[in-house]
Amino acid sequence: MRILVVEDEVKTADYLRKGLSESGYMVDVARNGHDGQHLIEEFEFDLIILDVMLPGLDGWQLLKLIRRRHQTPVLFLTARDEVEYRVKGLELGADDYLIKPFSFVELLARVRTLLRRGPPRESEHFQVADLHMDVLRRRVVRKEERLTLTNKEFALLHLLLEREGEVLSRTYIASQVWQMNFDSDTNVVEVAVRRLRAKVDDPYDTKLIHTVRGMGYVLEVPS
Ligand code: CA
Repeated sequence: MRILVVEDEVKTADYLRKGLSESGYMVDVARNGHDGQHLIEEFEFDLIILDVMLPGLDGWQLLKLIRRRHQTPVLFLTARDEVEYRVKGLELGADDYLIKPFSFVELLARVRTLLRRGPPRESEHFQVADLHMDVLRRRVVRKEERLTLTNKEFALLHLLLEREGEVLSRTYIASQVWQMNFDSDTNVVEVAVRRLRAKVDDPYDTKLIHTVRGMGYVLEVPS
């Protein structure tokens, strides 16, 4: 697995290169947006870690160029006071973001999740345990009982089913279900998940939607 880090702060770039190499990844580092662009045009990467504030071409200009031709997952690094950049980044197609300063453990967890994430399961029907979704008819049934979901609840459950077994961050969920027209730090996702659980999980013994602390949510049959 080959990762490109585009980061102008020498300390952060070295820290990422060292940590990711020790975790078994091949790492290339670009110190500015233009070098990043050249590397992306020349080589295939499995993941790009992209700082927002870069000399020359900034992170979201670079992201725009990347998304014209590549579907490579992009993890954005952003400072706490750059909320507007973060929102822009997600609208342009970043897959996730981390706020600086971050712990390496958290970065590694995000990297692993993004690298595992293949294309979504495209299907008209989903079945997990006794939960069934008919996408075209917009019907959700659990234990032979029809559930009434709002449009957003349906979209959220659909996303969780497409990504069964994958931990999805709140940011990713917000960008997919709400198209990210608000700051994802709000608890909109949490509230929606709670409402969805009240219908899909609470009345039943087997819980399917699980919270992964500090990471997000996953839909799976508990082992
Ligand atoms: Ca920077």
